[in-house]
This record gives sequence, structure tokens and C-alpha cells, in this order.
Amino acid sequence: MKSAFWALILMGSGITAFAQRNCATDAYYRTHRSQYAEMPVERDGVEARDTVPNEIIIIPVVVHVLFHNEAQMLSDAQVRSQIDALNRDFRRMNDDAASTPEVFRSRAADTRIMFCLAQVDPAGRPTKGIVRRYTDREYFLGDDGMKFSASGGNDAWDTRKYLNIWVCSMLGRSLGYASFPGGPADKDGIVINYDVFGTIGNLREPFTMGRTTTHEVAHWLGLKHIWGDETCGSDDVDDTPRQLSYNYYCPSFPHTTQCSQESSGDMFMNYMDFTNDACMNMFTHGQKKKMRGLFAPGAWRNSFLRSYVCDSSLASGAPIPDDTLVAAKPAGNVKAYPNPVTDFCVLEPDGDYKLEGQILRLYNATGILIRQVVLTSGKYTLPMRGLTPGTYFIKLGEHANKRVIRILKL
Ligand SMILES: [Zn+2]
Repeated sequence: MKSAFWALILMGSGITAFAQRNCATDAYYRTHRSQYAEMPVERDGVEARDTVPNEIIIIPVVVHVLFHNEAQMLSDAQVRSQIDALNRDFRRMNDDAASTPEVFRSRAADTRIMFCLAQVDPAGRPTKGIVRRYTDREYFLGDDGMKFSASGGNDAWDTRKYLNIWVCSMLGRSLGYASFPGGPADKDGIVINYDVFGTIGNLREPFTMGRTTTHEVAHWLGLKHIWGDETCGSDDVDDTPRQLSYNYYCPSFPHTTQCSQESSGDMFMNYMDFTNDACMNMFTHGQKKKMRGLFAPGAWRNSFLRSYVCDSSLASGAPIPDDTLVAAKPAGNVKAYPNPVTDFCVLEPDGDYKLEGQILRLYNATGILIRQVVLTSGKYTLPMRGLTPGTYFIKLGEHANKRVIRILKL
């Protein structure tokens, strides 16, 4: 099973694959299933309480921004844009709610679940709920490396009180993955590729509306993919139609298959399908019920009802200044264009970076060295003609001068 998981993470790196949604949550769960507990463990004195019917549940969030280059150092505004998008989607205050086909509109739900950036860190200090860490990892795999400081990531904050979101560069076509409820506490949370996080900044089409995170947070709240990850499978939710499989891009409505039990066909505009951000716009009442069920006494997310870390009045002392969180700020960068590339890719300094004297190495997506050259001028034209289409990585320099650029060969 493990090898199948890696194959899934690594497979597909052409331009087409990058334009299709891909989520590694199911593969991650299948790989780690043995570590998942049946029932919540003792809550260490966090007293359970029941939800008041339909109360607004607010989930404190910490976002760990792991950056290897400047492009991955997302701004506070970009992080906040993602929290805003989550709140719109979960509260059905999204602008495109009206795009839900009429036949499904009565099933669309305001989940009454909301999100806030934490204002108190685990030591009781004030925080913005955003942690930035330089990482020497050029990219992470789906192996939870980003969740531990020891492996170039950042340790989780108490996963009973904070929804941990790690934003980093991930190898392959997966946009992100989540841990379902019940996994190991130190790995609980979601991982999102840096170029699909938020609604502003340098985002990858067609994932510019923050819905990768909406989708992964819903997994974290126990929802399965709408086709149940099986042919004609069930997601254990009553009001989502049975679906043959996932849908990519944005089908035209209705999209029916041999599994369809209703003429309205697939609910491909559900956040738990694989369609483009602009195509998704709803959770159902059944999905709402399933997610909110996790907050019942004795259920996995109940401890969040007693998490007050978004209340800044409870913080004391001085915050950890941002610049001590950043181990190394990249000085200058390198531009590579055009990207995607067909025949030649031009490399030029962007800022103070000096290309002269650096070693350039070109790797394919599986890490095999394709070309190596010592640069002798301030601009270099890298021949790419004849190479197999797909993802490549240009690695320049070493240590503080190391820069890695992902390029797509058409
Ligand atoms: Zn998913």
C-alpha cells in the first residue's frame, strides 16, 4: 500500500495534471489507517460540553507558512484571505451560492462553522496565528515532514485547541491533504500547497478561490469525497447523490452516469468533488450534520468548544517577533521565463542574486539529474528542447545561494 501511496503522490506532472484537482487525503488515510484510534482519547482535563443546537462553532486556526524561497513566503493578507474564504464557504455566504442548480438549492447548508486566526499561542503569548519558518526543504512529500521541526517543518500547536494548517511546497500534483479525525495528535491538521492557498497573491489557476482549503478542512471535519473514493461509492451522507467517480474541471449540468439515481445527476458543485474552485459552491445539510456531529461530547472535535485561543484578551507577555521566526531571509531571487517552457528557458537575477559562478542543475520530477553547468555570466539560456514534457526543477547554487525553481516543459 505504501508504494501505491507514493505512486499517487508522485504521478502525473504534466500541465494537464496540474490543472486538475488532486487531493491525497484518501491515500494518506489508507496508508496510516492502523494509527487511527476508534474513539477519542482522554482529553486531559478539557471538560466536555454539548453544542447548543445550531450554535456557531468557531475553530481557532494556526497557519504554519514554510518557505524555501520568497514566492512561498505568503503575506499576512494572503493568509487572512483564506480564512475569509473558509468563512464564506462554510457559512454559505459565498458570492457564487446562486450558481447552485435549483434542484440542489434546498439541500445547500450554512454549516454555522467558522474560523479565526489564533490570538494566543500555546505559551499564552499574543500571536497573529501565522508562523513563518524558513525551511531548507525544496519541497515536501506526503509524509508529514512539514509537521515536525526536526524534518524541516514546524511542530503542531496543541491539536485539541488549534486547527493546524501547514502551507508549503509539495512535490507532485497533490494540492493538499488532511488527517481525518482520530489520527495521531502530533500530525492532526491539513497541508496545503502554497500556490493554492488564499484568494490573493500568486495563485495557480484554476485554484484561486481558496477552495482547496475548504475541501481539506471538510476532510478534517470527517467528510469523505462525494463519490466515497469507490466506483459508485457512498460518502455516508444521505442527501448527496451517489456518484460514479470524481469530476474534474467544470462539467455542464446535469452530469449523469449509470450510477445516477436522480435526473439531476452528480453534485459536482459540492466542495467534496474534484472540480475547479469556480465550479464549487455548496455543502449539504447532511454534510453539515456529519461535520457538526464531531463536536458532540465524546467526539473528536469536542475540545474545540472549549478553545478560547482567538480571544486576544487572554494573551499576556510579548509576542515572538516575526524576524526571529525567520531563520534565513532569501536575498535576491532568480527569474525563469517563459514558464511553461517549450525550447529555451532564460534565467536572470531578480534582485541581488549573482548567477556568475553558480552551479546550475536540472532535475526531472523524480529527482534524476538531467543537466549540470557552471554559469559564467549574469544571464543564462537553458536549452529544454527535446526533453520529455513534465515538471522539472532547476537548482542553483548551494547553502544561502541555493534557489530552486519549478518549471513545466510543454
Ligand atoms: Zn479530498
